[in-house]
Amino acid sequence: MLSALTDDQIQIRDLIRRVAKEQVAPRANEIDRSAEYPQDMFDLLRQLGLFTLPFPQQYGGTNSMVSACLAIEEFGRVCYNTAYLLLLQWVPFGAILAGGTEDQKGRFLHGLASGELRGAISTTESQSGSDVAGIKTRATSVAGGYSLTGSKIWCTNSHIADFVLVAAKTTDDKSTGSINLFIVERGSKGFEVGRKEEKMGARGVPSCPLFLDDVFVPESNILGESGKGFKVVMEAFNKSRPLIGARGVGLSQGAIDHASEYIQNRVAFGQKISDFQGIRWMLADMAIQTEAARNLVYKAAAMVDAGAAGSDLAPIAAMAKCFATDTAMKVATDAVQLFGASGISNEYPINRYFRDAKVLQIVEGTNQIQRNIIANHMLGRPAR
Ligand SMILES: Cc1cc2nc3c(=O)[nH]c(=O)nc-3n(C[C@H](O)[C@H](O)[C@H](O)COP(=O)(O)OP(=O)(O)OC[C@H]3O[C@@H](n4cnc5c(N)ncnc54)[C@H](O)[C@@H]3O)c2cc1C
Repeated sequence: MLSALTDDQIQIRDLIRRVAKEQVAPRANEIDRSAEYPQDMFDLLRQLGLFTLPFPQQYGGTNSMVSACLAIEEFGRVCYNTAYLLLLQWVPFGAILAGGTEDQKGRFLHGLASGELRGAISTTESQSGSDVAGIKTRATSVAGGYSLTGSKIWCTNSHIADFVLVAAKTTDDKSTGSINLFIVERGSKGFEVGRKEEKMGARGVPSCPLFLDDVFVPESNILGESGKGFKVVMEAFNKSRPLIGARGVGLSQGAIDHASEYIQNRVAFGQKISDFQGIRWMLADMAIQTEAARNLVYKAAAMVDAGAAGSDLAPIAAMAKCFATDTAMKVATDAVQLFGASGISNEYPINRYFRDAKVLQIVEGTNQIQRNIIANHMLGRPAR
């Protein structure tokens, strides 16, 4: 697949690989340790003009999901949190591009592209994460718009976001059909962002609870048609799923980089541990799994670029997310093993990879949910 990359894609990958090595890698441990939002990394991505990379050229992008995956992979190889910053800009951009009105595109997309605006998305509530249909936040129709009341948890980037795409139900219907996304702007009366979670991974970008008490959202801030907005946006998320897989591939590759270096320097029983066959085979297996994940991710991304959507795309996108992030967990676990006790010490970066890999198996639809999508497709059952 690598040989199938275009010259432009190779150029993007090589540029980002260099920037990641020279400017991002030296900051990665400190971002993780301090658990502080890396504004300097956001500024770097902004200067590089990467906030529209997967999107159409009219917005300054490459219109290429493969290019976007390459960027996420290269940043994720050295710093999970910096790669995450890109995704946090792309997800609201993609949602508004897919489901927004011309007015909303005009008001939000330029700012997201330039980095003047930041967004977040919030579906998860304390009683329902995977089971999105179980959300209780309610949107009640009032003159000129809706009033939102409810609470959310785990909303990443909300501490800094200028707006949050909040999922709420417009009726008591128990399906996702009654869910819409509402653009809730920072400073709206009754809207509050709570204290950040103490996290073991993804530490550089805070996740916070949200409290909504009779928050007025004008008609002009409802994303998509009533009852359809959520589905349109979910389809957009389907298309961005290869990006989550790319985070897994980058993380795996980074763990391999660190482990390869370590085993060639560590000596036991009078020889480098890289000379033990058992160690070499472990390293080879890590490379095999990572390469397999990379190819599945690139395939799913190439399908997006070729216009695949709906049930043609969903199972492959789910496989890419699931396999690449399970691989990241496996490879990071093996990498820690290769470091021995040093793998547990905070003196070495490898336990950061292990902690971040665990997050990837849970976010953006857990890997059990991805398996449900795949099996439902195989058995011809509707997605739940
Ligand atoms: C770092 C981080 C950042 C996050 N950022 C955001 C964000 O920005 N916005 C947002 O809305 N949410 C966010 N989340 C929340 C995330 O989307 C949810 O945690 C995720 O969807 C799982 O929901 P849950 O935690 O409630 O687990 P549950 O849904 O309660 O699941 C618990 C376990 O049961 C399994 N399970 C559930 N249903 C099934 C089923 N049908 N079949 C098989 N197994 C099943 C799950 O896979 C999981 O292993 C974030 C989470 C983390 C950790």
